[in-house]
Amino acid sequence: MYQVRTCVGCRQSGSRADLLRIVHTQNTLSFDLDKTKPGRGCWIHPKNSCFSAAITGNSIPRALRVKVNVQVQENLREQAEKMLEI
Ligand SMILES: [Zn+2]
Repeated sequence: MYQVRTCVGCRQSGSRADLLRIVHTQNTLSFDLDKTKPGRGCWIHPKNSCFSAAITGNSIPRALRVKVNVQVQENLREQAEKMLEI
């Protein structure tokens, strides 16, 4: 089944398989690599440009309806960079 999700960075939609899922747990953000964690999640392309847009626009906290500071979001971007070499 083709499931469409919208990227919080560029706002383009993409296949669930092409996007990373972000979840909020214990005041921090992390990636849900298995895409199975319960709760609200948001989706982002594994691209630096999408992370920049999301952080600039504060779209991740808004999508998840949580408050997280910019540092937490930058940490998430660093995690992605290490994990994906983007
Ligand atoms: Zn994107």
